[in-house]
Amino acid sequence: MSLENRDFGEIWMDGKYVPWQEAKVHALTNTLHYGAGVFEGVRAYESDKDSSIFRMHDHTNRLFQSAHIIGMKIPYTKKEINDAQIEILKRNKLKSAYIRPMAYYGGEALGLLMNKLSVRVMIAAWDWGSYLGEENLIHGIKVGTSSYTRNHVNSVLSKAKANGNYLNSIMARQEAVHNGHQEALLLDHQGYVAEGSGENIFVVKDGKIYTPTLTSALAGITRDTIIHIAQNQGMEVKEIQITRDMIYIADEAFFTGTAAEVTPIRELDGRTIGSGKRGEITEHLQKTYFSIVKGKMPDYEKYLTRYSI
Ligand SMILES: *Cc1c(COP(=O)(O)O)cnc(C)c1O
Repeated sequence: MSLENRDFGEIWMDGKYVPWQEAKVHALTNTLHYGAGVFEGVRAYESDKDSSIFRMHDHTNRLFQSAHIIGMKIPYTKKEINDAQIEILKRNKLKSAYIRPMAYYGGEALGLLMNKLSVRVMIAAWDWGSYLGEENLIHGIKVGTSSYTRNHVNSVLSKAKANGNYLNSIMARQEAVHNGHQEALLLDHQGYVAEGSGENIFVVKDGKIYTPTLTSALAGITRDTIIHIAQNQGMEVKEIQITRDMIYIADEAFFTGTAAEVTPIRELDGRTIGSGKRGEITEHLQKTYFSIVKGKMPDYEKYLTRYSI
């Protein structure tokens, strides 16, 4: 069923819980026209005894930072946004979910000066499986280097998870899928590897783990989690400039993101990576990640906001 036409559940809009199908905006909503908005993608997972939102506070902090970067003032406190996320999961009876908070400009005017416009916030949550496919978490995906350059660092700002930044992601992903790949790899304006359309990337070579510096990639919370897991287990992670041919000759490669979770990459531009299967280190990090988000690792309890239905 289409996401818009579900006949159950509520969406938090500007402080109110609105029935799913009534959660609408006006056609002249400014952000709908120019993309000046910021959003988050958050996940909640079911565990043995209850459920938990993974790194909710970090996501909310990033939402506010993204807003700060684009010069937007969110008219709610972080606590209000956090409470609303928990409440919407409870009201919609979701033991696991994808949560989408977004802050956007209202339709008072259609110009490019946002200071007189209202800032509106919505939070929706629904049941959503793995973004790049359950099978692909095991077998890995085929990726193509994009003909689109990742947003220049002085164009739209990459530390913001901003709606408008996603036009670049959409072009890249559509091109990749059109060409028979499952996801795109975007290079920065100098030709170094930046990230996927909505995921950060890691490569493994000779037992060491590498990931691009955050110059033109979003500071992913999953990326940060993976770095912590690896380091806590004594593995070395280096943030360096990565070239596409380093990925061709890597032993393993994988994408990370709240939506994509930890997805192995088995091929880039038709070149098999390593054995062409999910690598050993990738599998280990992926399994650890899933244990953490499902509340099975007490050492990482600080990442979880537990709730029960
Ligand atoms: C959201 C996003 C990611 C992944 O970030 P997480 O915090 O791990 O979900 C990576 N790149 C881009 C461009 C994104 O928008």
